Amino acid sequence: MSDRIREKLEILADAAKYDVSCASSGSNRKNDNKGLGNTGNGICHAYTEDGRCVSLLKILLTNFCIYDCAYCVSRKSNDIQRAAFTVQEVVDLTINFYRRNYIEGLFLSSGIFKNPDYTMERLVLVAKKLRTEHKFNGYIHLKTIPGASDELMHEAALYADRLSVNVEMPTKESLQLLAPDKNREAMIKPMRFIDKAIIQNREEKKIFKKTPLYAPAGQSTQMVIGATPETDFQVLYLSHFFYKKFHLRRVYYSGYVPISNDNRLPAIGTPVPMIRENRLYQADWLMRFYHFKVDEIVDAANPLLDTEVDPKLSWALRNMHLFPVDINRADYMLIMRVPGIGLRSAQKICEARKFTRLNIEHLKKIGISLNKAKHFIQSENSCKDLQPEKIKQLILQEGRSKYKANFSTQLSVF
Ligand code: SF4
Repeated sequence: MSDRIREKLEILADAAKYDVSCASSGSNRKNDNKGLGNTGNGICHAYTEDGRCVSLLKILLTNFCIYDCAYCVSRKSNDIQRAAFTVQEVVDLTINFYRRNYIEGLFLSSGIFKNPDYTMERLVLVAKKLRTEHKFNGYIHLKTIPGASDELMHEAALYADRLSVNVEMPTKESLQLLAPDKNREAMIKPMRFIDKAIIQNREEKKIFKKTPLYAPAGQSTQMVIGATPETDFQVLYLSHFFYKKFHLRRVYYSGYVPISNDNRLPAIGTPVPMIRENRLYQADWLMRFYHFKVDEIVDAANPLLDTEVDPKLSWALRNMHLFPVDINRADYMLIMRVPGIGLRSAQKICEARKFTRLNIEHLKKIGISLNKAKHFIQSENSCKDLQPEKIKQLILQEGRSKYKANFSTQLSVF
């Protein structure tokens, strides 16, 4: 690799690290033995210490940008070293890294140079060359550029596994404040377009088996949290909207990393709201897999997630009238809501109780975290008189949360 390419790689991989929407789950692109790579099996996710995915070659095509979003290192007013790859350079890097087993795929985003279509055209060209010239079957995640034409979005979906448009700010008002060049509708429009096209593609596939793959890993988005004063209720409500309305596969939450002395933003040195970010992911998980509604997790009266305990435990502590449950009789939907019992464990309980009356020893064998669960299930040892706050303190004392030594209040910006 030439020194110049290495230098560009350093600049553009560093600039891409702020985008967390890069997990490669959900695609099953197959290799028919004529091509290179395969997303069906063996995609591995590597995570940095703070939990961010780094399994893909994750770069920007360029960090030049005509826009000036206050929360972004690539904004035009920021005095940083700039660089841009050519389309061919990104293609060559991807193929070379893939062949050396360094990566499983490509996550490609970009600053906007010249205009949205000009930028999007180049992103699409990278994916097209990889797929058609190199028969690359590895995972490709393309960031789509708000404002780019529908034709380019359509083409992107033909070559990429996943597409994403970052909504960035949880409300229109915050977007207006920090990214005045952007507007919410320009971000929603491509989501709507891709969603409709994916549904149509699925229908066509039922009739014509050879219909080409179309963004098989769906679409995702990312929200920056902690840069503006929105509550967790507002953030989760918006995520819920995206999941329902546009069938997004994932919403990613990115705790704001203070990068500038701009009085619209938290000052440099303000801690990144990592605990809050983690709690939002947990709450998001509850919505997607445990059938929790947003207002069961947070609501207008209690709009912030409890940073000390996970949202499922927090919900249970606020709903003690539902507990303790009899694991030998309770409905599956209630068992899976017991803190410490996950989806698979709930299934195992429902299966196992068909054959025997379950007790604490059985639950231990199933692998249930009794540290939490014991306070919410009926057993000879359960103490019925404990108050929620007391249970919370007991769990915290016994728990081994990675954040235990680091409890601080959520980032208060304004
Ligand atoms: S458009 Fe994207 S790259 Fe450009 S400043 Fe805004 S967030 Fe950064």
